[in-house]
Amino acid sequence: MANELWKEMCSYADTKLDFMTKTRQDFHRFAESGWHEVRTCSLIARHLKNLGYEKVLMGRECLKDDARMGLPAQEELDYIYQRALEQGADPEFAPYFKDGFTCVVAVLETGRPGPVIATRQDIDALGVLESREESHRPAREGFASVNDGEMHACGHDAHAAIGMTVADVLWKYRDLLNGTVKIIFQPSEEGVRGAKAVAESGLLDDVDYILGCHMGARKNGTDTQLGFNYFMNMANAKWDVYLTGRACHAAAPEEGHNAMLAMASIIQGVYGIPRAGCGDSRINVGQVTAGTGRNVVCDRVKMVMELRGLTQAALDYLEPYARSIIEHSAAMHGCTAEIKVMGASPCAPLSTDSFVDELVALARKLGYSVEEPKACPNSEDYTYLAQRVMAHGGRSCYFSCLSDYPAPGHATTFDIAEKDLPNAVKFECAVITYLMGITIV
Ligand SMILES: [Zn+2]
Ligand SMILES: [Zn+2]
Repeated sequence: MANELWKEMCSYADTKLDFMTKTRQDFHRFAESGWHEVRTCSLIARHLKNLGYEKVLMGRECLKDDARMGLPAQEELDYIYQRALEQGADPEFAPYFKDGFTCVVAVLETGRPGPVIATRQDIDALGVLESREESHRPAREGFASVNDGEMHACGHDAHAAIGMTVADVLWKYRDLLNGTVKIIFQPSEEGVRGAKAVAESGLLDDVDYILGCHMGARKNGTDTQLGFNYFMNMANAKWDVYLTGRACHAAAPEEGHNAMLAMASIIQGVYGIPRAGCGDSRINVGQVTAGTGRNVVCDRVKMVMELRGLTQAALDYLEPYARSIIEHSAAMHGCTAEIKVMGASPCAPLSTDSFVDELVALARKLGYSVEEPKACPNSEDYTYLAQRVMAHGGRSCYFSCLSDYPAPGHATTFDIAEKDLPNAVKFECAVITYLMGITIV
């Protein structure tokens, strides 16, 4: 039996379902992808201030400037800032988030001794053009993204709503709590670009426990509510590759250097890298932009690609091999190649195994239906945060709030069911009070 405090927190969280639904749908409609999250951050900051939070860290206070990866060009950031203001960003707080400083942290200091606990919510959208079909609920109900090519197709709109509600519940019961809680709203998880700058800001250096929450797909025909991950996260690197050759008339190709041929060699070459014995790996060239016309030898190519290793050794094998193929394929056709690293995350655990076991047991005692902890063969820059906390002996747990997905993550028809969001709020509040030494079960 849960004690009175957690029961009260749960009842209060249930009254916030309408707020969470509206908030999630509003962020969905005005989707902002990595380093664009000015409107999102300004509204989160407004909410935290309205609740009564005195300590709200914004922008440069919680991001290390030169550790931000894959930042868009200044013209894009300027355009996005204006767009955010036109789309209802809070004018008081928006300036803090200008120029790619899109991070907010609510700090609850109870003034009583106790642990320092952090929770991480990632808040960015993806580079996806959202479906406009009637069968897609956000389109049918009028909250599909108005920003073409930016879509919350991974559920980070829901993460923002969850974090804002956790902040609300903890604030309401703050006189009964102890220690410190830092609720982190992190930018630019997609492309694994944002967490490193949060970790290097020093924000986590006094943190004893960190929780990461992500929406997850509930298996068909089950009623599970929470999922947990034990295992290593895939190490990965995101590259933009620029090839430069020389344009000329297609009737006299000997006068030029054909960057499109270099691109073709590179694509064939990188997919042909032999399998590594030191770990499973992946490579993908996901987008290419090349050429200007039918009768022109192509002089410029941009390739957007990524590499992943299930072990660090596998990625360390893949990276120089791919670099060599890119450089030599370019040279073979008289072109030059430039590789820009747009994002990266290490091969590191998302969670502390013993802490996962402890929280799975807690969840079951609280009456949650929990999926068996499993491997997670994808990439998450949360590993930077977990690593930073574990480096000084802290513990991390990454869990999923399960929901019925009509389409897989990153699909143009992705959606979640808002009714599942209070599960995550209640569980985070349960873990936080439990870690404070308050008996909840
Ligand atoms: Zn995600
Ligand atoms: Zn994603």
